[in-house]
Amino acid sequence: MMDKAGVMALLTTDDPEALYTRADQVRRESVGDKVHLRGLIEFSNVCGRDCLYCGLRRSNRAVARYRMGTQEIFSAAAYAAGLGFKSLVLQSGENCQYPADEMCALLRRIKRELGTAVTLSIGEKTLDEYVALRRSGADRYLLRFETSSSALFQRFKPDSSQQQRMQCLDWLRQAGFQVGSGIMVGLPGQTIEMIADDILLMQELDLDMIGFGPFIANAQTPLSGLGEASLDLTLRTLATIRIVMKDVHIPATTAMGAIDPQCRQRALNAGANVLMPNVTPTQYREMYQLYPGKPGLAQAPSDTYDTLVDLVRSIGRDVADDAGHSLKSIFGSGGLTGI
Ligand code: SAM
Repeated sequence: MMDKAGVMALLTTDDPEALYTRADQVRRESVGDKVHLRGLIEFSNVCGRDCLYCGLRRSNRAVARYRMGTQEIFSAAAYAAGLGFKSLVLQSGENCQYPADEMCALLRRIKRELGTAVTLSIGEKTLDEYVALRRSGADRYLLRFETSSSALFQRFKPDSSQQQRMQCLDWLRQAGFQVGSGIMVGLPGQTIEMIADDILLMQELDLDMIGFGPFIANAQTPLSGLGEASLDLTLRTLATIRIVMKDVHIPATTAMGAIDPQCRQRALNAGANVLMPNVTPTQYREMYQLYPGKPGLAQAPSDTYDTLVDLVRSIGRDVADDAGHSLKSIFGSGGLTGI
């Protein structure tokens, strides 16, 4: 376990290129050279929360809301599986009111007919709901704790409880999920020390995946005009997370692609080993904007796929042909197959 002084030393190094090279080396030794692709389906932008940073927040009346039906979600998943994806991520706002039995039936159908790995990113739920989703075949769950600072959490998620979010992460483990969590960097008022604390918390939670990206101010939110994370801070944080956490999966996230066209490529050379091409049907993409500048808004899913495969090949790496389950020993190399 690395201590706070060690994490701070990495984050604040005056030789970031050496930090990236070291992270790239740790990535190669711990998770190998292959890049895992997870097809991201943003199936609803309906959200019951009012997080100050997010374009989907309940109070944002400027956004047209959509909710894909489960048949439509299945068709998008089948299309992505046909493109070659072995792993899919289903994401939405919170409490977007899909009855649990509908969601579970969808998961069973995806597992039965497509056989892909499935990650859910659908927010806080009860332990019973998590168990039902896991039993229906979902393999992984992504729930960012967003920030370990209680002051920032309260400020930016005024209608949520940090304690409850942490409780949910514990429930996800109990339910048998491969668990992903993470943060945004560059939030207004966030210090480097807070980011170091975030990384220590990731270590303590012994996560399987880290979902992290730069904060980007959205003009339709109360944080409008309050800046965004720099490429430098984003890459420093990424490289430090890789060195500290070693064998976790870390995506070069879409938000990284939004702050700088080179960011995802640079991220893959500074510790990242996953890409999440957006395979949401094109007509919905415009409506799922957490922040401005999201790449590929007008692209068809197959073009997004091709763009990112080209990106991987352009840096001399190759796309993995397996589902890319957690590398932690309790899940085994093939991941859990059911509980
Ligand atoms: N509603 C689910 C949840 O809260 O876990 C999943 C969807 S949520 C929109 C996905 C992630 O988007 C959040 O965890 C947050 O970190 C990120 N996000 C939201 N607004 C953002 C912004 N303005 N800039 C960067 N990332 C943002």
